[in-house]
Amino acid sequence: MQNKRVQAAHLNAASVRQHNRRILLQLLRTYGDLSRRQLSERSGLSAPAVTNVVAELLDSGLVVDVTPGPESGLPKLGRPSSNVALVSRSHFVLSAQIGAGVLQVGVVDLTGEVLASELIDFSLPAQPEDVMALAVEMLRRVMETAHVTTAQVRGLGVGAAGLVDDDQRVNLSSQNLGWSEVHMADYFEDALGVEVVVDHNVRAMAVGEARYGAGQGLESLVFVYSRTGVGAGLILGGREYRGGTHGAAEIGHMRVVPNGVHCNCGGRGCLETVVSDVAVKARMLSAGLISASPDRNDHAWSQQLVDLVVEGDSRAIAIRDEIVEYVTSALLNIINLLNPQLIVLGGLLSDLSPVLIDELRASIPIQVLPLLRDTIRIQPAHFGADAGMIGAATVALDQFVFGTPLLTTTRSH
Ligand SMILES: [Zn+2]
Repeated sequence: MQNKRVQAAHLNAASVRQHNRRILLQLLRTYGDLSRRQLSERSGLSAPAVTNVVAELLDSGLVVDVTPGPESGLPKLGRPSSNVALVSRSHFVLSAQIGAGVLQVGVVDLTGEVLASELIDFSLPAQPEDVMALAVEMLRRVMETAHVTTAQVRGLGVGAAGLVDDDQRVNLSSQNLGWSEVHMADYFEDALGVEVVVDHNVRAMAVGEARYGAGQGLESLVFVYSRTGVGAGLILGGREYRGGTHGAAEIGHMRVVPNGVHCNCGGRGCLETVVSDVAVKARMLSAGLISASPDRNDHAWSQQLVDLVVEGDSRAIAIRDEIVEYVTSALLNIINLLNPQLIVLGGLLSDLSPVLIDELRASIPIQVLPLLRDTIRIQPAHFGADAGMIGAATVALDQFVFGTPLLTTTRSH
């Protein structure tokens, strides 16, 4: 009995210490170098507690003391005080984004910067074991390129093209790959000897943009991704929204065309039936803008659509206008329901953003309440085609280094 109580007390002390470590790391990630006093003010931890935690972080090599620059505004009187800074390349995470027919892996540092990455297309149908074995090979190669050893790696983040279990270890189903119950974390942990976390790829993209990209410091954003399927990732209160049983934000199955064509989900007129790669390619084909349907992983046609719109081709403009109309009606629902601070467009919508964003910025505000109108921001993904890879890395950084953000660190001061 006595022992159990002692053990529990130790556990509590350890988890408090870990909690405090993560609060300070998050502050350093969000605001850059800070003095111990600033860390104490922003975290609410006492000065001695901050000193203790910083000492631990110094030991682990995650942070260093640096001399503050002249712009820091710190008083120059007395003995020179130092700032605490994150050592961006003291540790690394690995990342694997598994999309429908495309695989991208990378080595990423603590500031979300990519040291080395590799992208490969694979043909469908494909067996999960074959694709994961390929990912392991590629990960070993990028580690070698980046001169990063397993000992320096804190974990691997996997972006899966579909639903993931609550423990974030199993890809429950990927409709576009035809996979179900793939034990991704077990597989990669055995193969690579590092801890693994799995997340829905679009949710991971939202996390990446929230921590390091277009939505840094914001509490709410919606990432809308269109490729083979259409999905969304939500950040609410600074954290990724994991939803109910399966945590999916199925924006792709919002009905935007009354009595539209049948969708995979059993519904009709879903957003996915009109703004996925397949749907837009089909319309370009029937409008005579492309002569044959391009391969799944050949995206030159989307640039072609952009160029034609810029040139004033009326058929291309008609297709663009349709996309604007459908995306607008889906986004209006999201804005009215969640009023996010930022909407980020990824995949095809990001490819088309040169001729899409301004149109959306013009069409959406006039259809929402005046109060919400001024706050709407729409941007293409900061990380473009790397959004999935950096997103999966960020999920690993959250899981294995920084912890889930706390509201105190995501509010602007
Ligand atoms: Zn549907």
